[in-house]
Amino acid sequence: MRTANATTNGTTGAGPLLDVQDLSVDFHTDTGVVHAVRNVDLTIGPGEVLGLVGESGSGKSVTSLAVLGLLGTRRARITSGRILFQGEDLLTLPPKRLQALRGSHVGMVSQNALSALDPSCTIGAHLVEVIRRHQRLDRAAARAKALESLELVALPDAARRLRSYPHELSGGQRQRVVIALALACRPELLLADEPTTALDATVQKQVLDLLLSINAELGTAVLLVTHDFGVVSHVCDSVAVMRRGQVLERGAAAAVLRDPQHPYTRALVEAVPRLRLSEQERSVPRQRRRLPEFTEVAGGVGA
Ligand code: ADP
Ligand code: MG
Repeated sequence: MRTANATTNGTTGAGPLLDVQDLSVDFHTDTGVVHAVRNVDLTIGPGEVLGLVGESGSGKSVTSLAVLGLLGTRRARITSGRILFQGEDLLTLPPKRLQALRGSHVGMVSQNALSALDPSCTIGAHLVEVIRRHQRLDRAAARAKALESLELVALPDAARRLRSYPHELSGGQRQRVVIALALACRPELLLADEPTTALDATVQKQVLDLLLSINAELGTAVLLVTHDFGVVSHVCDSVAVMRRGQVLERGAAAAVLRDPQHPYTRALVEAVPRLRLSEQERSVPRQRRRLPEFTEVAGGVGA
């Protein structure tokens, strides 16, 4: 098992932004206890993009929800571990502090943009609400910030879109709005749980390109949950491979793709050889890479 950290993970200098140590989560269900996450270690440095990959049910979403204290069910029990964000253990934070941190320092983008948006509220109202929850701004200043956020995610005709309702936007546009909401307060970390799975291939590529450019522009670190090794190879600095609640392997994305250590990872990588970057492609800094047409990189691990 490889447990080497990515070279870019910031464990030197300022220290990691997010340091998940020995995290275990159980669910108590009517049919027994599910060990959803078992002794997971993850590190993300400032500005780093970490891909959390694994088949469906491997514990990716539960891991990322635990980071924000959003497991949201009394059946969930965190049975071990620490979740250090900027050195502070989120598991011991009072609920109010955790709530303040959510949105302002850690943003969340989920798979289904529609469920994240209230159909009766305009895009502008969503953004203003989030911005004013975390910052003392009057309405006009919050609205200016809202417009800035929509421009950041390259939504065409942003000023007009502030007055639109979610159903008036396409799926890709709605996902851009959800990303704008997550970034409105300029968090240091974005948790993106399969942010493109519900989108068609061309739009998937555009949204991933957008995440890359935001990462380059704002230095936002990203925990990108995906079941797609193609996405990892093109977007991520580092990768952690999960299966059945455990991290089997983690390290720099390039190293894991080139030389996977765990048989499971090897099988995944070998199943999609065309996803490997050529030496020439790899020499392009990640922030300046653009995904090839998605037909070439579509390939997953069957989530
Ligand atoms: P994925 O890697 O697909 O995101 P999840 O993290 O959602 O997987 O789920 C990990 C495991 O935890 C699965 O076995 C799933 O059935 C279980 N699980 C997730 N949420 C709950 C819940 N609320 N109650 C019971 N079991 C759950
Ligand atoms: Mg999931």
